Amino acid sequence: MRKTFFTPGPAQMYPGLQDHVQQAFEDYIPSISHRSKQFEHIHRHTVEALRAVMGFPLDFQVFFHSSATEIWERLLQNCVFLESFHFVNGAFSERFFDIACQLNLGPYKQEVSWGEGFNFLNEEVPATVEMLNFTHNETSTGVMTPVESVYSFKDSHPDAIITLDTVSSAPYVQVDWGKVDAVYFSVQKCFGLPAGLGVLILSSRAIQRSNIIADSGTSTGSYHSFQAQEAKALKHQTPETPNVLGIYLLGKVCEDLAEGGIGRLRWDTNGKAALMYDFFEKHDRFEPFVQDRSVRSRTVLVMDVAEGSHGLLSYLGEKGLILGDGYGKMKGQQIRIANFPAISMEQVEELLAAIQAFDKG
Ligand SMILES: *Cc1c(COP(=O)(O)O)cnc(C)c1O
Repeated sequence: MRKTFFTPGPAQMYPGLQDHVQQAFEDYIPSISHRSKQFEHIHRHTVEALRAVMGFPLDFQVFFHSSATEIWERLLQNCVFLESFHFVNGAFSERFFDIACQLNLGPYKQEVSWGEGFNFLNEEVPATVEMLNFTHNETSTGVMTPVESVYSFKDSHPDAIITLDTVSSAPYVQVDWGKVDAVYFSVQKCFGLPAGLGVLILSSRAIQRSNIIADSGTSTGSYHSFQAQEAKALKHQTPETPNVLGIYLLGKVCEDLAEGGIGRLRWDTNGKAALMYDFFEKHDRFEPFVQDRSVRSRTVLVMDVAEGSHGLLSYLGEKGLILGDGYGKMKGQQIRIANFPAISMEQVEELLAAIQAFDKG
């Protein structure tokens, strides 16, 4: 049976990915040495293709990790002596805060209920915090934080390193690179790739911060300290044997995304999201979990389902339409639908028609 994955990660594979995998095997990419010229070429190409899609300036570097979860730990180890500040409104932002606790740092958090956006009061965030952490799109709840609120902290907290989790919103999110120091994602969400690669786009200011910490005698980690990573990245290599196939495929998908046009991608994403919200708002059985329209995600849509989601999810599953269940404590009560670039308007229409049919049946 043909299946379409509307799950918010791992997700639907990007169209044409299978051909890129085939090509990679024909070119023996999985067997090449990560110290070869061929790998350096792949590394360079992927960084440039990603720059074309995300638009970051030349003084930002790209470091490859195993996941976004790893990136959380690396950011804390490299940019914070003691105080990080976390805006927590769901499971992923909470996990970042938890890791800061596990590393025995002294993190602060501002927390709001699941499904809500923040009322940002910059003056209430201590001036001493070293790193401010924002989750652009909270995948567990479907809340998308307006980037302007994030950028306003650049003026109120000029010394803090500002990080932005764009795991389930890049490359849809439009980043102002003058206002942030670290933007990161893992590839199994919006990029439609197999899991196992986390990408960190990092300002030179963040690397300098890490150098200050390392010079003071405090550990910034070992093989994935920013010092170790920068030394290799400048040579288009990585400290360890990396996910070479993943890095290669990311370059190919970025080429495809750039060719389609990033403006077009945002336009399409908005169009599919509007169609779905309109459908669900008019439908008795469903209600968008996020009440405030100004913070409703365009890339991960979360709906409350009257009478629970399990019957609907298994009905759709039998038709090959795989949706996300509610996250964590919301399991069984909600559906989560990924509106990622790999999902076409036609696939969205097919999904909505199947939901109509479920109600009639
Ligand atoms: C999935 C997700 C993560 C974690 O990504 P991993 O690749 O599993 O480490 C972090 N943040 C957000 C917003 C996510 O959706």
